[in-house]
Amino acid sequence: MTQILHRLVYYSRNHISCDDGVFGANVDDILAKSRTNNVRDQITGALLFNAGCFAQVLEGPLENIEAAFERIQQDDRHGDVALLALDPISHRSFPNWAMGFVGTSDFDAERFADIGRASGFDPSRLSGDQIHMLLRDLTIEEEAAA
Ligand code: FAD
Repeated sequence: MTQILHRLVYYSRNHISCDDGVFGANVDDILAKSRTNNVRDQITGALLFNAGCFAQVLEGPLENIEAAFERIQQDDRHGDVALLALDPISHRSFPNWAMGFVGTSDFDAERFADIGRASGFDPSRLSGDQIHMLLRDLTIEEEAAA
């Protein structure tokens, strides 16, 4: 049976020390584990870090993204995890990304800050669509630059 694809978007607050070495090593760890698990689980997506917060889009078979989100919510490297959207989709926005990582350049940071400011940095006022579109644009730019 064909599984209906879904997209999940969430936002969370970083708990990892922002000392450069510590933060970088933890993110490398998260990305390595994510990419292995997500290939296995047919999940694609992107992760953004900025202003002390993570925002992530996961897309794939519903059962698999729900299982991944369950694990992610229990991870003490972040907290205050807020689900912003979980919807059926007709196609993937990140077909080439087992887990892209974006948002670290000053220019990306400013674009994320715009969304944050508009919401008053209140996760309950952030829109899953806004986060999805921003991550999609940033990964398209990364692909073009590569
Ligand atoms: P194992 O790697 O065997 O880990 C077993 C347990 O140890 C898990 O509970 C894990 O959470 C915990 N653990 C492992 N290393 C650390 C560490 N350094 N610090 C604290 N706890 C640790 N996982 C995905 O599969 N896909 C994703 O897209 C994804 N995105 C993430 C985004 C963010 C912002 C964060 C913080 C984590 C993300 N993770 C993702 C990781 C996820 O939270 C789990 O750690 C991972 O899925 C567990 O993989 P595993 O079941 O193979 O367990």
